[in-house]
Amino acid sequence: MTAESQSMEELARSIKGLAGASTADLVGIAPGSEFSAAELGELGEAFGEVKSIVVLAQRIVDPVQMVRFYAGQAYQESHVATSFADAMLKSTCWQVVEVLHQAGVRAAAPRNLRYGDAAPRHSLSFKKAAVLAGFGAFGRNQLVIHPKWGPWMMLRTVVTDAPLPPDAPMDFAPCDHCSRCLQACPAGALSENGIDRDACRDQAGYVRQSSTVIRLSPHGRINCDECLRACPIGAAPPRLALAEAGS
Ligand code: SF4
Ligand code: SF4
Repeated sequence: MTAESQSMEELARSIKGLAGASTADLVGIAPGSEFSAAELGELGEAFGEVKSIVVLAQRIVDPVQMVRFYAGQAYQESHVATSFADAMLKSTCWQVVEVLHQAGVRAAAPRNLRYGDAAPRHSLSFKKAAVLAGFGAFGRNQLVIHPKWGPWMMLRTVVTDAPLPPDAPMDFAPCDHCSRCLQACPAGALSENGIDRDACRDQAGYVRQSSTVIRLSPHGRINCDECLRACPIGAAPPRLALAEAGS
């Protein structure tokens, strides 16, 4: 083992040591070589070569983690929008960035594409990175399915030019003959061909009596999660009661 690979092993160990000791429950590493220049966009331009992607996951056990808040009048148009789980996980991303900077390598925490950005400057899929890092496999609901937690994870990443030793993808096929998530989708947005993102987004814009969106305040809400709740893998958190939400 060369001195560089040994130091990268040690660096990976110290980053992974944050799992369970921070707001991240899982920390893994995906190889940057699996992502094209188009996917990396300005991240690749800034780093020259993104050699590794550190992937972080927080398990969702409480509906409050899924409360989303945003700065503008409409969620989709807000430049600043996040969920509590996402905000908590981001704090650990900064810890990872700090560890990497202290080791003398470059690192940054890219923006999560799900939160409205009119002109995204990269298209790095956190889900693809999570599958490559061995967190689970893609499900028919288009989410990463962890063998124990199911789809109940919030994901984030840190990109770096450090050649960290990558983890291996998991040999796991969660869906088999199941199609519960397709049947549960109130917008008909899911099919064998994938997801109709516009239909899913439209669903997220409604506030209804038997709500899949609970509006907590002009700037806070809980989105539809029926395709997660339908999944037989993992335990869904309780629904936030309408009375509790003040709706
Ligand atoms: S979040 Fe709701 S609308 Fe979107 S795919 Fe899942 S079940 Fe369908
Ligand atoms: S509900 Fe069934 S088909 Fe959908 S992601 Fe879960 S296991 Fe796969």
